[in-house]
Amino acid sequence: MGVRDEAVQIAGEIAELRHAIHREPEIGLNLPKTQAKVLAALDGLPLEISTGQGLSSVTAVLRGGPGPVVLLRGDMDALPVTEETGLAYASAVPGAMHACGHDTHTAMLAGAARLLSARRADLPGTVIFMFQPGEEGYAGARHMIGEGVLDAAGERPVAAYGLHVTSHRLPCGVFSTRPGAMLAAADKISVTVRGRGGHASTPHQAADPIPVACEMVTALQTLVTRKFDVFDPVVLTVGSFHAGTTDNVIPDEATFLATARSFSQDSRSALAELVPRLIGDIALAHGLTAETVYATEYPVTINDATEAAFAWETAAAMFGPERADLAEFPITGAEDFSFVLEQVPGAFVMLGACPPGNDPMTAPTNHSAEAVFDDLVLADGTALYAELALRRLAAGRLLYVEVRRCTVCVWRR
Ligand SMILES: [Zn+2]
Ligand SMILES: [Zn+2]
Repeated sequence: MGVRDEAVQIAGEIAELRHAIHREPEIGLNLPKTQAKVLAALDGLPLEISTGQGLSSVTAVLRGGPGPVVLLRGDMDALPVTEETGLAYASAVPGAMHACGHDTHTAMLAGAARLLSARRADLPGTVIFMFQPGEEGYAGARHMIGEGVLDAAGERPVAAYGLHVTSHRLPCGVFSTRPGAMLAAADKISVTVRGRGGHASTPHQAADPIPVACEMVTALQTLVTRKFDVFDPVVLTVGSFHAGTTDNVIPDEATFLATARSFSQDSRSALAELVPRLIGDIALAHGLTAETVYATEYPVTINDATEAAFAWETAAAMFGPERADLAEFPITGAEDFSFVLEQVPGAFVMLGACPPGNDPMTAPTNHSAEAVFDDLVLADGTALYAELALRRLAAGRLLYVEVRRCTVCVWRR
């Protein structure tokens, strides 16, 4: 029996674990209840288990026979969202929800650990299972790398794979990946514009920061279209803007926050240089001052071309080419799995989990209070995790992938 059938056999238990995690979501780097559920699910398996020091991570190492090391990663954290799905297993914690589907990743990875543990005797190498907290803005992957997850087996992995469900865009059960940039780099821009407050009726006697900050917001959009190659795009969105207290008082300060997304190091470096300069110069033009903090957060998630081809081929071989999508474009979201892929070649794979019958193009998106990820995908996601490890270990240290003829032209673009 293949791992696909074995995953179907344990699908009920994977769903049970997923529901338990979903009901009790935890946010950030410290997820003690989620960690306890993962440890209970792995209990009794022939794994070397260690937990994090500065975060509630779980690293499990499965040692088979001689051979290379492969890493599989599932993130475990929830979001500060109050769930509105009405599901039977909906979050019981107001203000916390698994709105990005990380509960499914955790449950599927635990399922894969079980399937691979049963094959330990024939396993041509070692698998590291990386259960990671704090993906949503806390750089949990970077913390785990700092605590040694990449060296947990005593030897660096030859490949690393991450799986991520999506409640929209992809039809249920379709896997999607691409070579090169898979997700964007995400950086945070914090701006404080300092003027001089006063009476709203006599603005000439004050130094009003509000119109100056507004000018910065629109100038940033012009910067995006005038300074960046349209084929190496950036997205810049001001998501928070605050100033003042009432209608007849000019405040001293205006502040705003923006996220900047980019797909190359060139664009990312250009943003870090041009944004503070533009903001400083606009403030200066009006006789005000401005402070810009450009904080680099997550790098571009870059799939190794051969590993992405391998992951695509594996999904196509297991589930049919109609369920293996070769994504034409990267996604403007960001992922801290990027820190792993900076050090280990690998691939990040999306999995459509929109409930069948719902239109993926209009279904509530990841991070929405109404986002639903269907249990139907749990068995196949588990099987893909396991099969990626099995096939990759069998391939040995050097991977060669013969890409199907029909996709070669697309792949080489
Ligand atoms: Zn997310
Ligand atoms: Zn996510």
